[in-house]
Amino acid sequence: MENVGNELTKVLDKKNWSSRFDELVNNVMEDPDVAQFILEHREELTDEAITKSYAKLYEFVQEKKKFKLNDPTMIAPGYEPQLFMNFHFIDVTYVPTKELLAKKAAQELSNRVKTMNVPKDIKEASIDNYTVSSERKEALAEAFFFIRSYTENPKEFHQGLYLQGSFGVGKTYLLGAIANELADHEVQTTLLNFSSLATEMKAAIGSNSVVDKVDAIKKAEILMLDDIGAESLSPWIRDDVLGVILQYRMQEQLPTFFSSNLSMDQLEKEHLSTTTKGEEPLKAKRIMERIRYLSKEIKMVGKNRRLNN
Ligand code: ADP
Ligand code: MG
Repeated sequence: MENVGNELTKVLDKKNWSSRFDELVNNVMEDPDVAQFILEHREELTDEAITKSYAKLYEFVQEKKKFKLNDPTMIAPGYEPQLFMNFHFIDVTYVPTKELLAKKAAQELSNRVKTMNVPKDIKEASIDNYTVSSERKEALAEAFFFIRSYTENPKEFHQGLYLQGSFGVGKTYLLGAIANELADHEVQTTLLNFSSLATEMKAAIGSNSVVDKVDAIKKAEILMLDDIGAESLSPWIRDDVLGVILQYRMQEQLPTFFSSNLSMDQLEKEHLSTTTKGEEPLKAKRIMERIRYLSKEIKMVGKNRRLNN
């Protein structure tokens, strides 16, 4: 690489350059990997080609040393220098190490689940470790059914789930487990706590970023709105945030999940039409129609698991 080549020239510029040069060349040629490489490619390499490759060999030896010491000044941290034949000359390439690849893969996997204000245990939720009680069998079966049908046929419309159940029954956990399982299939899920979303939107009103935020959310490949109905809902959040998101997802046939303490009926009557203005029931009905279209209501019953933890 440039800078290493320059370094070599600098060293060579010194007064007694020829003996310094010999010393450097000897150092480089004595390196077992270099010797082995030249031996393996001796037939393709002329003596002139080897001489012209000194700078590359020098770079290789230097960078290999740094790589072994994990020296942060190395050219490409996480990549191991390797010699290869580049046309008739010797060249250095940098190959990612297994550790680097594993780290990147893990990073990619967790990037595929975008979460906002979701606790750590939910981020690590797994469908394989899901404790099944008879009451939750249906929800788990539906979750598996969705994952299978969506991954087999992602272009078709698939109804998401509307998980309804009391506090602590494991709704958020199941959403997280579905999201993680989908991530294994390279499907990106956005899991948002609805109250946090509402708070963030309200805070963004002044900053003009509301439209961008709503846009990003409505276009998510899989969207999960967790704990809808828990916050007090302003007509603006209902119509200009939730309404816009759901309208788009219905049009574009994008899978959408919900979780709520309230049943769909309760959500419509007790939550979405909270204010007393005449038009409210109609607006609530319209939102509810979209939720019903996008998702299937599943009742989750069981003990409050939070009490045991
Ligand atoms: P909800 O969202 O219905 O209020 P959570 O999903 O937050 O309930 O679950 C409550 C607690 O129980 C959490 O600490 C969660 O990690 C744990 N939990 C829920 N379901 C499971 C499960 N199937 N296996 C293991 N832990 C679970
Ligand atoms: Mg929850």
